[in-house]
Amino acid sequence: MALKICLDPGHGRYDNKSPNKPEYVEGAQMFYLAQKLKAELEKRGFEVLITRQKIDENPFLADRGAMAGKNSCCMFLSLHSNSPAHKIAEDGSKYYEESVTGTVVYYSMTRPENKDLGDRLGNAVAELMGHYFRGSKTKEYPNRPGVDYYGVIRNAAQSGCSCAFIIEHGFHTHVADAEFLLKEENQQKIAELEAGIIADYFGVVPGESKEPEEISVGSLVKIIDGATWWDGKNVPAWVRESTWYVESMNRTTGRYVINKSEDGRHAIMSPINVKYLVLAYPPKDEETPAQDPISETLVPDAEITITIRRYGEAYQIVEREKLAEFFK
Ligand SMILES: [Zn+2]
Repeated sequence: MALKICLDPGHGRYDNKSPNKPEYVEGAQMFYLAQKLKAELEKRGFEVLITRQKIDENPFLADRGAMAGKNSCCMFLSLHSNSPAHKIAEDGSKYYEESVTGTVVYYSMTRPENKDLGDRLGNAVAELMGHYFRGSKTKEYPNRPGVDYYGVIRNAAQSGCSCAFIIEHGFHTHVADAEFLLKEENQQKIAELEAGIIADYFGVVPGESKEPEEISVGSLVKIIDGATWWDGKNVPAWVRESTWYVESMNRTTGRYVINKSEDGRHAIMSPINVKYLVLAYPPKDEETPAQDPISETLVPDAEITITIRRYGEAYQIVEREKLAEFFK
């Protein structure tokens, strides 16, 4: 099953025209960039949802963010270009400093483990655009401790998406940045770059659907004996005895984060090296002859367990009573 990504081309069609490069309009250019990124992500095996189906659409920020969680997306990515705050000239007119440049990435305060991926995306975009990376940052809502300032990030995280970003691709007030983003071949380069990093992060190989036996985001895992956390401390026995969902992963560094327990009783958000993880339910050997295990083992009062696993969630249904009744 393909992992889903929600792309959010920022603003509406006519929003944020560059004062220093008037051909550039953020709301339109980010829509075009999103189309290219969508195609590149699809090539790499993702299913892509987009908050603006048409260039004239401009949904509420809350709806944009919530689309990610509602559709079980593994990532929400809002595409923007930046602008500094305006300044006032001596004659009282507004102006925007042209020299400010650089790429910046924002992620949710509630998901510190997303900084790694934010840094990878931001560094790569800044290098491609020929300016510097201003960093991956969180921004807090004034007087609301722990609450994300940006509506799309806040709503994506609150809707259950564990990986939400805004990428500011340079500053559209900076003429060279705006000129770069206006060129279609450069939009294509950004799309390929970002899609490649995202595919690498989530372990998706072009032309292949995900290997079912590999540990990835959403897998249920157990921790082997003798394991230590990413910071070197020992993993306590009670954690090793439980089964956990992988929350996020970095295939390059091997740093995986486990969070919720299968039984839903714990959320520990703990980084660990992937070498200490094993799949809790490894797939069955395909050579096992096809048989009907239920008809062989089902006797009155038998307890059967049906596990339905989907990306990121599991349901375990024990229908003992119903079966006992059936055999009466
Ligand atoms: Zn913007």
